[in-house]
Amino acid sequence: MINNSFNNISIDNKIQKVLSSDRIPHAILLSGAKGIGKLLNALKLSKALVCKNLKNGLACNACSSCQKADKLIHPDIHYTFPTIGSKVMSDTFIKEWRSMILENPFSTLKDWLQKLDGEKNKQGNIPKAECINIIKKINLRAFEGGNKVSIIWLPELLGGEGNRLLKLIEEPPENSYFIFVCSDTDKLLGTILSRCQIINLTKFSDEKAEAILTENFKASAKEVKTIVAVSDGNMHHAINMLQSSVDENFNNLTRFLRASYAGKQFDIFELCDELGVLSKSEIKSFLDYFGHFIRECLRIDYIPEEMIKLQAQEIAFAKKFATFLDPDAISMLSERISENFYYIERNANIKLLLITLSIELNRSFKKNMAVA
Ligand SMILES: [Zn+2]
Repeated sequence: MINNSFNNISIDNKIQKVLSSDRIPHAILLSGAKGIGKLLNALKLSKALVCKNLKNGLACNACSSCQKADKLIHPDIHYTFPTIGSKVMSDTFIKEWRSMILENPFSTLKDWLQKLDGEKNKQGNIPKAECINIIKKINLRAFEGGNKVSIIWLPELLGGEGNRLLKLIEEPPENSYFIFVCSDTDKLLGTILSRCQIINLTKFSDEKAEAILTENFKASAKEVKTIVAVSDGNMHHAINMLQSSVDENFNNLTRFLRASYAGKQFDIFELCDELGVLSKSEIKSFLDYFGHFIRECLRIDYIPEEMIKLQAQEIAFAKKFATFLDPDAISMLSERISENFYYIERNANIKLLLITLSIELNRSFKKNMAVA
């Protein structure tokens, strides 16, 4: 999906600063909000650590080491990630993980577990066997004579096993580095956290996020603008939304609102039948879009039109729609949408949720009409 080895996305400024300093810490932990490219930055950092031709602390992107790091096959970079089961090492699934990350470096744990396990909802962990493998690998002599790097994606899933790594993190072998990519530092062992230099990454600016999406995906600038506004810096979300287009979501939304307004049961059931077969990620993208649209409807009377994060066609519809519902009803709707999002995450029946939402919406329309 990503066209070229994501080289056109620049490394986070804070990491760049660390890289160009005299002393690079041996244990670095990258943290920050969801979907901002923590793993992607870890990959770039590891590439800089093995690059044979550093320029101002940054990888040259051209030497043989950089090329191997780009393909996630550099022999001195070891990748650890959660797996399912108590004895599974990351190496067993490295091919699958590599292909997922090369395709989309913003992939989440959920994406990964789904790839490993289908829809069975098993938990992932980093077991003892993998810790032993990390220790073994970092103690080997570097194949290419330079640095060795161990990237640990989601170290919070080490649980108590993380204690096995403490000594190594404290006194790492020469020229070796640990990069922890942590989604939730509250769940990480305090003993690991305290031994790392923590770099809290910032999310991409809207302009940067737009550039990443237009450069790496076949998407129009117009569509990308809306998606970036809706996803609020979460690139994983944004990429998901790109896969089911804004136009499609807008089309479904107008149909849903019109059917709910008319309140004709047959039409509502038919439409919900149709939407009910969308995949979980498509329906989440639809609800995301729905929520964004509603929030913008609330703002439409108060701020200049050019600040509304909707396209012209959507604004015209939003203005009409906002006249049919009072702000309280719109807030209620916004709450319902986030509740539904939560239920769908937990595999609730999509069709049933949409029918309920539609009926509730119809009541609000009627109440509003009665007042007016
Ligand atoms: Zn290089």
